[in-house]
Amino acid sequence: MHQNKIIILTAPSGAGKTSITHYLLREFPQLAFSISVATRKRRENEVEGKDYYFMTEEEFHNRNKNNEFVEWEMVYEGKIYGTLKSELERIWNNDQVPVLDIDVKGAIHVQEQFPGTTLSIFIDPPSVDELRRRLSSRGTETEESLQTRINKASYEISFKHHFTKIILNDNLEKACKLAKEAVQQFLES
Ligand code: 5GP
Repeated sequence: MHQNKIIILTAPSGAGKTSITHYLLREFPQLAFSISVATRKRRENEVEGKDYYFMTEEEFHNRNKNNEFVEWEMVYEGKIYGTLKSELERIWNNDQVPVLDIDVKGAIHVQEQFPGTTLSIFIDPPSVDELRRRLSSRGTETEESLQTRINKASYEISFKHHFTKIILNDNLEKACKLAKEAVQQFLES
């Protein structure tokens, strides 16, 4: 029914894409979160098989040799994140549309592989300073990992024109509404 569609939300870390992703998942029962593989340590509030499929690097490399990933990226130094083909299949088989919350490079790769059936939304943070403020207040980062994320953010923002839609998140409610409209249109297309 949904013709193997894919929705991608991408943005620099801290731009609000996770909040917008959660909002869309609540609004549209036909959407399902695509659970990524990650080789980083699980955070205390995270659940295996819900937030991520946590794997060792060795496990990741074995599955990658087996050609099991649609895309993967070393998003941060030594930390690999990837989308399994089996995850997209699982969601499509349920007659739902996967929602991928992934980094900019991964988003470009998925889009290239599924042209015409992918809606890609770039969440644009109002400024790098605001991004720093949001990331610090989240309290999950060390000063070093914060700086890494900020540096990466400026680089990622330079790719925003590769995506179907750019949504400025200067106000979360407004950004959610715009994302909802884009998704509604895409699902009906
Ligand atoms: P975090 O460590 O904060 O959970 O996520 C770090 C970043 O990895 C986020 O920007 C997230 O969008 C990205 N990410 C999560 N899963 C994937 C994935 O499967 N592929 C890629 N390329 N990036 C991912």
